[in-house]
Amino acid sequence: MHATQYSLANATAQWFADDHPGVTFTSLEKCLWHSTETSGWPGYSGGATAPNLTVTPDRSAKRLVWRQHFPVNMSSRALLHTHTQPTNGDHVVQIELVGTCVPGGPGLFWPTAPDWALAGIADFAAWLYREWAVPLKSTVTWRAYGASDDWQRLSDSAYNDYAGHLGHEHAPQNDHRDPGALAMARALTIATSELSTGGTTVTPDEIDAVAQRTFEKIFNYTVPGTGVNFQTVISRVYGQGILLEKLVKAGDANDEIDPKALAAAIVAGLPPQLPANVDVKAVAVAVADELRNRLAG
Ligand SMILES: [Zn+2]
Repeated sequence: MHATQYSLANATAQWFADDHPGVTFTSLEKCLWHSTETSGWPGYSGGATAPNLTVTPDRSAKRLVWRQHFPVNMSSRALLHTHTQPTNGDHVVQIELVGTCVPGGPGLFWPTAPDWALAGIADFAAWLYREWAVPLKSTVTWRAYGASDDWQRLSDSAYNDYAGHLGHEHAPQNDHRDPGALAMARALTIATSELSTGGTTVTPDEIDAVAQRTFEKIFNYTVPGTGVNFQTVISRVYGQGILLEKLVKAGDANDEIDPKALAAAIVAGLPPQLPANVDVKAVAVAVADELRNRLAG
């Protein structure tokens, strides 16, 4: 309970808590979402305007990639604050989604985000519920960007009382309308089902992506004591098969196979160590690590 760093997040690439330390909360009651309106990681003026975390969609791998800037229970800096009622300082963790809520804007258009992206949001929401009891609910209205009025925004007192998920468009003392019509209801439904089944919801695309990365890890796994990886071992074994085939064909042609020459050729083609020496447990740990990285909340 009460982990302050999200397990899937990179907390070193853009860590701002040392340069811009905020107030530490002993409890959290809300999670406030933004969209960056960029296609890449924002610099946040060295952290001066940063949220607690930023998340970017990796569309080819169909997964979300997280960076953490402050502990989840430290006030961050992405909201304006002009009245007595705290905004950044009101027991809130803030997340910036890299992409847009404006049709035609940069990066992923979040209002029509695919299920794998919403599942990534759901994973975080479920984690936040388990660690900090932030309710898996959202009673605000997520409106399409560009409406002429601002009725979805909460008053200072309503914000103070609010518990659950909301957006920049709902924060008092602020005029930004991101992240628009985010499908938060869908994400929270996924999160709730994850908790009730005791696991995370995985889409077929995510399984494919995990399988692909797992096989990449296996092929790149260095066989202990050899300095070569599986891919090299496999290609050398395959090369031996071709060599044997050539030798057999040569034997068919003239009925003469020199056993010593055959043995020498086979020995010359051997990998430094055969796959029998592979540390199977280490491979299993590497595979499990990859699965855990993706699936664990
Ligand atoms: Zn915002």
